[in-house]
Amino acid sequence: MDISVVIPLYNEAESLPELASWIERVMSENNFSYEILFINDGSRDNSVEVIRGLQASNPYIHCVSFSRNYGKSPALDTGFARAKGDVVITMDADLQDSPDEIPELYRMITVEGYDLVSGWKKKRYDPLSKTIPTKLFNATARKVSGIHNLHDFNCGLKAYKRDVVKHIEVYGDMHRYIPYLAKNAGYGKIGEKVVHHQARKYGVSKFGLDRFVNGYLDLASLWFQTKFGIKPMHFFGLLGSLMFLIGFVAVVTVLILKIVAMNSDTFVFYLTKSVYFYLSLTFMVLGVQFFCTGFIGELITRNSVERRNYLIAEEF
Ligand code: UDP
Ligand code: MG
Repeated sequence: MDISVVIPLYNEAESLPELASWIERVMSENNFSYEILFINDGSRDNSVEVIRGLQASNPYIHCVSFSRNYGKSPALDTGFARAKGDVVITMDADLQDSPDEIPELYRMITVEGYDLVSGWKKKRYDPLSKTIPTKLFNATARKVSGIHNLHDFNCGLKAYKRDVVKHIEVYGDMHRYIPYLAKNAGYGKIGEKVVHHQARKYGVSKFGLDRFVNGYLDLASLWFQTKFGIKPMHFFGLLGSLMFLIGFVAVVTVLILKIVAMNSDTFVFYLTKSVYFYLSLTFMVLGVQFFCTGFIGELITRNSVERRNYLIAEEF
């Protein structure tokens, strides 16, 4: 099979018939063998009935329906697990992404050899409250992930080699950082294609402004996992040792001052009025805590089943 189209959807019933027939047209014009995987993320409208109706006239349409709303990432992950095509294409269900981009995305994966091609909504039809923070978000994501050629990490329209989607786990809200996940999994050939974008025709956006706060928190934890995921002691141990050292120097200072004061008639030293006393207390306690956190982290990674999941490119 050439292409699997994975479409996560949450209350998008009005858009689905138009989207399905548009994809069908593009596929038959280009003679692609394909499947459309609709992942219904707990819609409360009649999206599932609409998909059932569409399947009656097109056997290449399939649907997985969650019993409740889990989020876009779990929906994508479920689609990825089931995709059978050589190239896997994801797109949003709201008709903001154009199926006309599919043939070129397919070509970039199969002919140019990209692992992942991300759409770039160069001209966006979204409200300003979304486009401006998005620029900032993408700049940070580029810096942290080291993928400097991407302008639009969170574009719903992306194409992948099948291998890539089988080796990444899109959990939580991590769909914003799939290129970063792919890079971490060892798939570094990541490209970009400018894609057409349209204003939402039906329904409303499913993400509010909290997307940016959550987005940054996710990026921070992803960065941490990438850098220290299998060696947490390198982070916590260093930090802990450093703090303990500062605390230790402060303790020694306090002790010396106290001994000097005890042997002197003129120099008076009150332990609890000294800044070094408080420094020694705080830093030594913090240092030990960081150290223990690192130690527990190491024990957890030791027991993790994923600690030896190395992606092997070749063996001979
Ligand atoms: N979506 C989903 N589960 C959710 C939220 C969104 O499957 O909990 C789907 C939604 O139906 C759409 C895609 O994810 O197909 C992108 O959502 P939306 O268009 O609301 O995001 P925006 O374009 O505003 O970034
Ligand atoms: Mg949308």
